[in-house]
Amino acid sequence: MSSPEHVVIIGNGVAGITAARHIRRISDKKITVISAESDYFFSRTALMYVYMGHMKWEHLKPYEDWFWEENRIELRQAYVEKIETSSKMLFLRGNEKISYDQLILATGSVPRFLGIEGEDLQGVQGLVSKQDLELLEENTKNCRGAVIVGGGLIGVELAEMLHTRKIPVTMLIRETAFWQNALPVKDAQFISRHIESHGIALKHETEIKQISGTNGRVNSIETTLGEEIGCDLLGISVGVKPNIDFLKGSEIETDRGILVDPFLKTNIRDVYAIGDCAQHREPVKSRKDIEAVWYTARMMGETVAQTICGKPFKYQPGHWFNSAKFFDIEYQTYGNVSANPGEDEQHFHWEHSDGTKAITIAFDTSSSTFLGINTYGIRMRHEIFDRWLTEERDLEYVLKHLKQANFDPEFYDRHEKEIFSRFKESV
Ligand SMILES: Cc1cc2nc3c(=O)[nH]c(=O)nc-3n(C[C@H](O)[C@H](O)[C@H](O)COP(=O)(O)OP(=O)(O)OC[C@H]3O[C@@H](n4cnc5c(N)ncnc54)[C@H](O)[C@@H]3O)c2cc1C
Repeated sequence: MSSPEHVVIIGNGVAGITAARHIRRISDKKITVISAESDYFFSRTALMYVYMGHMKWEHLKPYEDWFWEENRIELRQAYVEKIETSSKMLFLRGNEKISYDQLILATGSVPRFLGIEGEDLQGVQGLVSKQDLELLEENTKNCRGAVIVGGGLIGVELAEMLHTRKIPVTMLIRETAFWQNALPVKDAQFISRHIESHGIALKHETEIKQISGTNGRVNSIETTLGEEIGCDLLGISVGVKPNIDFLKGSEIETDRGILVDPFLKTNIRDVYAIGDCAQHREPVKSRKDIEAVWYTARMMGETVAQTICGKPFKYQPGHWFNSAKFFDIEYQTYGNVSANPGEDEQHFHWEHSDGTKAITIAFDTSSSTFLGINTYGIRMRHEIFDRWLTEERDLEYVLKHLKQANFDPEFYDRHEKEIFSRFKESV
């Protein structure tokens, strides 16, 4: 009897582990998952709660440790230094080699840095990995103050984390308001005000110019407006980029990420890429070529499992959605709400006077077709918006039926009538 095919997955994040679980569910292949960061899969999105003391490290593991052996998924904690696709061989740090029949690259992201002098000082760091979290613990012992560069999702998490330890935080934001490269300006200003209400000093339209240190450790920065701010921690959160440096010298084609076709195949036979590290050659309409979010990583894991097990499946991510939390405000987005809409897109924005709830609905200028919605401080039902986007409903329909999408039955009585009358006034 011939031995089963060997699928090797590099990366034990949500993409790699989802692929492993689904391959096991539908096949008898031998599965090995190699990952350098941690021995077991953990929830990266919950890293902040460990620092804030709401969870212990063990709570981040969605599966019990026995799960992997029981499901015949071999886990190896090791770093892959090199891939030789001609011989289907992986070279691990420490001179070990592993061969594969099919290879899935699920190597995630690494923090982007600014490339300015002083970034190698102690106390300067990003936040992506378990090791970054451990470093943050070290770096924030006796910390007098922190500066965070960048106003994205990780930056605001970092601000909240430090705030719970009573560390004064200043955030430098290049745009006029928080995350304005992703949020329409009114939404961005609404979130800026909320972050400031927590005592975080936001410096808009400000960048970092220089980092200074003593004895190898950061002690202050200078902004582009000439202000000097003392700090023991400098958090860099200007985005992430695909973790692909180790592929240099291999035959696998990369651009900013690992290039894949709609089946998540790379240019090399039997080599696939999924999750944050993958860059789609032909992104689905109105989607980005690299989408570094949890649910798309999981969907790619499910999709590639089918293809590898002989049922070729195209990656079809459906309508975009995402969620996050900005201190106390939960944010959800469905469809496309452009940060800087062109002439063919208009926005209806409503904000409650208490500063904790808002919505922005994007619609097509000429047909009024619903394009997407951002909600803040209001939990909405994903499947309803998904359906309305598919059915191409118009703005008036969406506003009239908003109650259907709402989880909170009392919300309608409190706010939706006001939202609808505000809309009527605005047309
Ligand atoms: C702090 C933080 C908060 C986030 N919050 C959200 C959120 O609220 N919502 C959301 O949708 N997304 C969020 N994200 C993004 C989300 O976590 C990622 O999109 C997702 O985890 C990507 O999964 P992945 O499996 O592609 O990669 P990863 O989870 O990054 O896993 C890749 C693994 O591969 C390993 N690896 C890489 N190269 C090698 C090598 N050569 N050898 C061995 N191992 C290797 C890495 O060490 C890593 O463990 C957040 C990310 C961070 C950092």
